Amino acid sequence: MAVEVYLSENAFIGLLVSTIEVYRRECFGILLGHSTPDRVFVDFAVPYQTANRKFREVHIDWKRSERVEEAVRETSRWALVGDYHSHAMYGPLRATTQLSAEDQEYFTDGTVGIVVALNDISRPKRWAYRPDGVISGAINGYSIRLAAYAKRNGQIDKAPIICPYAVGFMGKRRALPRAG
Ligand SMILES: [Zn+2]
Repeated sequence: MAVEVYLSENAFIGLLVSTIEVYRRECFGILLGHSTPDRVFVDFAVPYQTANRKFREVHIDWKRSERVEEAVRETSRWALVGDYHSHAMYGPLRATTQLSAEDQEYFTDGTVGIVVALNDISRPKRWAYRPDGVISGAINGYSIRLAAYAKRNGQIDKAPIICPYAVGFMGKRRALPRAG
């Protein structure tokens, strides 16, 4: 059975704000929460501070660094459950939520990964669950899609995202000011 990924209001807002802030650059960060065998609850999304470096360096950095894991364990009741990053529209090329070869290579077993795809959009769009387990919507000119993946025993599978807050978010899609 596929692992389900539950996003809290905090995590959802954190993912949107941190990825929109650096658009069109890519954002990287960690996911804090807790897990059961078939569900991962993401309570917070914390952007990684040195994200203006190359993807590979960033990933190797924090995954090898036990400082992050220790800091989380010492200061909170949450665990490091995975990481996230954004894919940004590049020129005319629209970003997707598909994992790149590099994303798959640096995917740590036993964790989840969330990909936030951002593209320019001209019209508002309601937040909705899509049949493929992705959540999509728009904020002030940005089209946003969130997809989650889970790696178990060496295999990476798509993990449906559940985010009750996103449903309530539909009615106030102008709540976040556009950056710049
Ligand atoms: Zn990627």
